[in-house]
Amino acid sequence: MMARWTVLLVACVLASCEADRPAWQYGFSVMGTEVSVLIAGAETRDPAPHFAAVEARLEQIGRDFYAWADGELADLNRALAEGRSFQASADMAGLLAQAQNLSRLSGGAFDPGIGALVELWGFHQPRPGVAGTPPTDEQIAALLEGCIGIVRISLRSRQVASDCRGPLIDLGGIAKGFAVDEAMSLLRAGGIANAMIDAGGDLRAMGRNGRRAWRVGIQDPRGEGVLGSIALASGEAAFTSGDYARYFTHEEVRYAHVIDPATGYPVTHTASVTVLGGRGIAADAASTALMVAGPEQWRSMAERLGTRAVLRVDAEGSVDMTRIFGGRLEAVPVVTD
Ligand code: AMP
Ligand code: MG
Repeated sequence: MMARWTVLLVACVLASCEADRPAWQYGFSVMGTEVSVLIAGAETRDPAPHFAAVEARLEQIGRDFYAWADGELADLNRALAEGRSFQASADMAGLLAQAQNLSRLSGGAFDPGIGALVELWGFHQPRPGVAGTPPTDEQIAALLEGCIGIVRISLRSRQVASDCRGPLIDLGGIAKGFAVDEAMSLLRAGGIANAMIDAGGDLRAMGRNGRRAWRVGIQDPRGEGVLGSIALASGEAAFTSGDYARYFTHEEVRYAHVIDPATGYPVTHTASVTVLGGRGIAADAASTALMVAGPEQWRSMAERLGTRAVLRVDAEGSVDMTRIFGGRLEAVPVVTD
């Protein structure tokens, strides 16, 4: 995937440091997302090698963990579709094992084995809905009856196999979490203790931003502004899954990119779910799962997933949240300039 150089290094001038703006900021585009890497304070005099390392790793993740790119996951899917087993890298095997576990914990609401459905709906394309119409009930039913779901793959000593031809694995619901965790590890290994990785609003903080905590605004999925802001603890991740970024409209119905694996149809009851968690991967999977869960199930599913800080906005824009999230949400508007 091509990276695009956008925002560049911002020198730390005293005034902006005092205002707790990060000292260094670097932006690039990868996995269809604008990524910002922020390093605080006087962490380093030369951030360029850190930024280059993060960008290279995220580009590699975009290639290898995106089903419709030309890296490892595409090779794995091709092998399974042809009835062959596949020897996965340690990273891929580790991520698949975590995905299987998170899928089980969510009762199948999070299921990266539904790539064929994602493709049928056109959500694998950079601009979903260009085909114009949703698939038919028959097409969806045929897929649901076929070889689909992460339960259809087995994983032993990095050997991935399936009892049928497929399924098509799509790690799109978890890859950003993995990418953000990896970026954090790289920065930490390079001696950086205070930084934030922001992958299009899905982010993870490390240390502090000067004298203050790193802070994230929770976007209002039905409006322009934010619902509030949260001060993040060191190491904490904030991930949002929503119906407002990737969707298409057909005959006045909005079809967004999170699909309920039980029905094969995009979720319509939920506008967004934001999850705070200790790791990007778990928060990313949980936000996708809780999009699917719906009004009756989201609290119990959050508990099963071990996520205690959750905010949910339903399709009509009503906001609900766990007590822990409510205790953290501040009504302070976030200054973004
Ligand atoms: P996210 O924005 O993290 O919720 O990820 C959404 C992406 O995950 C979609 O664009 C699909 O590629 C994929 N996806 C859609 N529905 C599901 C699901 N129920 N479980 C796992 N991944 C999904
Ligand atoms: Mg997700």
